[in-house]
Amino acid sequence: MVYAWSHQRKKLQVVRWCDKVNTVVIDTHAHLQWNKFDGDRSEVVKRAVDAGVTKILTLATDLQSSYRVVELAEEFAEVFAAVGIHPTDAKNAQSIDLQRIAELAQHPKVVAIGETGMDLYWEQESRAIQEYYFQQQMLLAIEKDLPVVVHNRDAGEATLAAIFALKNKKLRGVFHCFAEDETYAEKVVQLGFYISFTGNITYKKSPLPKVSSSVPLDRLLLETDSPFMAPIPQRGQRNEPVFIKHIAEKHAEIRGLSYDEIARQTSENAQQLFRFPQ
Ligand SMILES: [Zn+2]
Repeated sequence: MVYAWSHQRKKLQVVRWCDKVNTVVIDTHAHLQWNKFDGDRSEVVKRAVDAGVTKILTLATDLQSSYRVVELAEEFAEVFAAVGIHPTDAKNAQSIDLQRIAELAQHPKVVAIGETGMDLYWEQESRAIQEYYFQQQMLLAIEKDLPVVVHNRDAGEATLAAIFALKNKKLRGVFHCFAEDETYAEKVVQLGFYISFTGNITYKKSPLPKVSSSVPLDRLLLETDSPFMAPIPQRGQRNEPVFIKHIAEKHAEIRGLSYDEIARQTSENAQQLFRFPQ
């Protein structure tokens, strides 16, 4: 039996997918360095691993957290790291940070640059700075032969334009927490990028199931974005990688496929993109 701590109910509750331990899934987007995990980080990783989440990619948002995610990747066999500067942190970054991030990217468990991208929802004034750091991190990803993990919030056109400018340079990556429409998804796929949806795909009245069904299955990844965006039935609680099962179940339901098919294909996709060392 697998249990998870319910912050809402203040007790351990049974996680119902314990029969799916043999089907492995990969959480391609979490922030395990967040202080919300300080009290029980080892248990969070163990709960996920016990439930078949064999790999958890944990992403930095600035230089300091880039050091931290590498430490976590060294501490836990199943944890891998992405180093980079989040668009909402770009205004606090310095050019030297990019140099340090480039050094950290040499680490064998660093499998991506990110998260990077553009955010004009929280940050409109820093647009030019965001664009600069996004471009620099994409160039770094190309140089290191690593994928970029792209955050786009209310910056659809600017994000695509920045990627399009480098499209002949063997850039690969994923649009995480996808919240655009089908037309946009098609453009992303045409650029050779992958797409992942967080727990928001499980929310009632969400238009995302329809968008998701338009994405070719070989371009789909699974992610939680822990500790944010917990899926139903954990919505409103702290999210953690073990809850990825609800997102996989939703994709299976949307596409009329089995849970195993979704798990297998998305794990294969994640391996293709991130090239996790075996
Ligand atoms: Zn994130």
